[in-house]
Amino acid sequence: MTRQAPLATWSGSARWTPHQVLRPTSEGGVLDALRIARKRGLSLRVLGGGHSFTALAATDGITLDLDGLQGLVAADLSTGLVTLRGGTRLWAIAGLLAPYGLALAVMGDIDRQSIAGAIQTGTHGTGGRSTGFAAMVRGLRLALADGSVVDCSPQQDRDLFEAARLGLGTIGIVLEVTLQCVPAFRLELTESTEDLAQTSAAFLADSAIADHHELFWFPRTPRTTVRTMRRLPADAPRHRPARAAELLQQEVLGNGAWELLCRSAAALPLLRRPAASLASRVFAGPRVVDDSARVFTAPRRVRFRESEWALPVSRFEEAFAALRRRFEEEDVRVTFPLEIRRAAADDVWLSTAYERDTVYLAAHRYHREEAGPFLLLVQRTLAPFAARPHWGKLHWLGARELRALYPRFDDFRAVRTAADPVGLLMTPYLHHLLG
Ligand SMILES: Cc1cc2nc3c(=O)[nH]c(=O)nc-3n(C[C@H](O)[C@H](O)[C@H](O)COP(=O)(O)OP(=O)(O)OC[C@H]3O[C@@H](n4cnc5c(N)ncnc54)[C@H](O)[C@@H]3O)c2cc1C
Repeated sequence: MTRQAPLATWSGSARWTPHQVLRPTSEGGVLDALRIARKRGLSLRVLGGGHSFTALAATDGITLDLDGLQGLVAADLSTGLVTLRGGTRLWAIAGLLAPYGLALAVMGDIDRQSIAGAIQTGTHGTGGRSTGFAAMVRGLRLALADGSVVDCSPQQDRDLFEAARLGLGTIGIVLEVTLQCVPAFRLELTESTEDLAQTSAAFLADSAIADHHELFWFPRTPRTTVRTMRRLPADAPRHRPARAAELLQQEVLGNGAWELLCRSAAALPLLRRPAASLASRVFAGPRVVDDSARVFTAPRRVRFRESEWALPVSRFEEAFAALRRRFEEEDVRVTFPLEIRRAAADDVWLSTAYERDTVYLAAHRYHREEAGPFLLLVQRTLAPFAARPHWGKLHWLGARELRALYPRFDDFRAVRTAADPVGLLMTPYLHHLLG
């Protein structure tokens, strides 16, 4: 057999060389892959869009690339229920739903992920009344490790459903997912550069009122970029900056010049604080009104490493103050901003927002700089505030700490063991996380 080429995540933070890569295009192909893994005693991990930062999808066994399993299975305008194949990329969903006048209720920063990958790690956007993707799931069609195919929902095989809708790819392979969608809508985006003390003090109140609200703070600068989105009817007049201005904002300032600035600051650490200060002044873009998917997401071409921590809203202010103090004490110099977002509580067992209204604090580091010490500093500073790590982003917690953060952790483990007793879908990294 020819040697398999190494694979890597988008950020390059996880790399692995699988024994074999399989690319099924049908349910039967997925079941064949499971049969091969069982027969050869290999572990099997699904690769979605490869946009997690951790080694979740890594394996020395079989990598199952589900890019060939995309598309719409069913959509019902009267209920808003939409069934998609697991490998469907988020960027394709708006086009698939447009003929039905439906849309995803909320999206995160980018649209490169697969829908199954997004739900399996608890991907979310921002909004005090919005949940992450996993809480929008109403049904799943799974291929289990033993080769059986099951449909589960709140009415059918409930525990399997609860574990599998955010299952880190360890419960089964998501063949299809049924999501609660909403009537199509437009968003008005406004961005501004404002005083840090004021915007952080007002964050809980502002994010409770606005449909979608977030802050970007370049560490140790006195400013934030405030980004607010208002939901409008689907026929609200579009408003976009002229093409040249849009290109300047998105491709030159947002990606080209930004890359140059980060690269220079990586080579010359003295430049890092002035670079952050400059970026904090020009980060805000112009007003936009457009279809929701085009406003929620934007291209991210400058690569970075990221950690994100979910805090109970009641702990946000003291946690953020602690982080600011630590950054001063440790003379932190980073060029990427901290992102502060909000989500409503949900009931998904392993959701970072399980039973608590949540504020997310995400820390980023340019990929040519060493991310570990900075991200670990953030982890240690936020730990006393019951911070839960995003499953797809970098953190250094194991099963012992995670069990203390998730009331349904043991229920999850019991369902996982019953669904895959031989651990076909497990790897050493997943054993570290789940015990
Ligand atoms: C630039 C960038 C921006 C981001 N923005 C956000 C954001 O705004 N909000 C947020 O919450 N997160 C964000 N993330 C994190 C990202 O959404 C998650 O890590 C997500 O899991 C990536 O989806 P993916 O399809 O790339 O999955 P992968 O990384 O390929 O896989 C993730 C997990 O899902 C499993 N999986 C994938 N497909 C299946 C399937 N069909 N069946 C079973 N298991 C499966 C994999 O085995 C793996 O365990 C961002 C990441 C990057 C790199």
